Amino acid sequence: MEEIDKEYVGFATLPNQVHRKSVKKGFDFTLMVSGESGLGKSTLVNSLFLTDLYKDRNLLNAEERITQTVEITKHTVDIEEKGVKLKLTIVDTPGFGDAVNNTECWKSVADYIDQQFEQYFRDESGLNRKNIQDNRVHCCLYFISPFGHGLRPLDVEFMKALHEKVNIVPVLAKADTLTPAEVKKKKIKIREEIEQYGIKIYQFPDCDSDEDEDFKQQDQELKESIPFAVIGSNTVVEAKGKRVRGRLYPWGIVEVENPAHCDFVKLRNMLVRTHMQDLKDVTRETHYENYRAHCIQSMTRMVVKERNRNKLTRESGTDFPIPMVPGVTDTETEKLIREKDEEVRHSPCPDPHEQTQHHEQHSERGSSSEPHSQGS
Ligand code: GDP
Repeated sequence: MEEIDKEYVGFATLPNQVHRKSVKKGFDFTLMVSGESGLGKSTLVNSLFLTDLYKDRNLLNAEERITQTVEITKHTVDIEEKGVKLKLTIVDTPGFGDAVNNTECWKSVADYIDQQFEQYFRDESGLNRKNIQDNRVHCCLYFISPFGHGLRPLDVEFMKALHEKVNIVPVLAKADTLTPAEVKKKKIKIREEIEQYGIKIYQFPDCDSDEDEDFKQQDQELKESIPFAVIGSNTVVEAKGKRVRGRLYPWGIVEVENPAHCDFVKLRNMLVRTHMQDLKDVTRETHYENYRAHCIQSMTRMVVKERNRNKLTRESGTDFPIPMVPGVTDTETEKLIREKDEEVRHSPCPDPHEQTQHHEQHSERGSSSEPHSQGS
């Protein structure tokens, strides 16, 4: 027994240390909802997170919608569950598909996603990388109308324009307007079309081979549920003596959280319980990396061009290889340093006492979020 204790250095507590740190820091997640207006996006978001995120929404009339461009709005809520804090941001694209001319209506959505990447890229290339606010979009729920025959050209165009920028999770909206047989048929058709048009939606990671059978089964079911058939409701109704979120019709009640009625629970579990971290990882490791690589490539190309031009004008005749500039260029660095200097010059003289206080406050807030049950 003593022998084993001697061999125990203690790094087995590393997962606990990571756990404590991340709980202290809190989590954030940015979800985008897209699709034609009126498909139940806001209702579903409220049902998913049990909050009313759209209290002050202003619905436009038909005339206003004809000329309206895609306006992007952001709602942020802080939710807490068992001491774990989540800053949830919902990015809504109201008006999408509403106007008479919908060509390129995906453009402003694509621009929005790029702007968030650009901001992050600037921040992490800056001199001060502490407290970077990360607004990158981790997932886009794309709402498909239940009334069409599969995907419409607009759906194909939208998803193809965005699939390399964001994790797209397609959902079949207002599934209560379809019979179970229709849902099944539409899902197959939509999956076939996604394949046929080469749309790259979010791929659930493969299960580890050592997972138990139950988990593997659940994972398979999840993959076969795409597009998730969803129903949203802002009202609580009474069904079989229980109060549930649902829709009351003259012929019966549709329960949002009943797996026999729709895939709402599957979608919520996927988003919140099982795949939130993977969605963030794919955003960081694939989509943001792509953006960053493109940026660096074009910056490098610009520098090479510039040097070539200088070479031609100043040193025509000499032929030496031009070194590739990694990442940020000299001028860019100079600009960043100038910006930083400006910032320092304009900020009031720091009061060391005040700074400590601020710091203390910060760490105090952090520690208060620790769950008491953590024994590490
Ligand atoms: P948004 O414009 O996409 O945000 O759509 P809303 O959430 O405002 O919903 C538009 C209308 O559809 C409202 O009258 C909702 O009550 C209704 N609605 C929302 N979700 C569903 C659903 O799952 N099924 C049905 N039948 N109606 C829904």
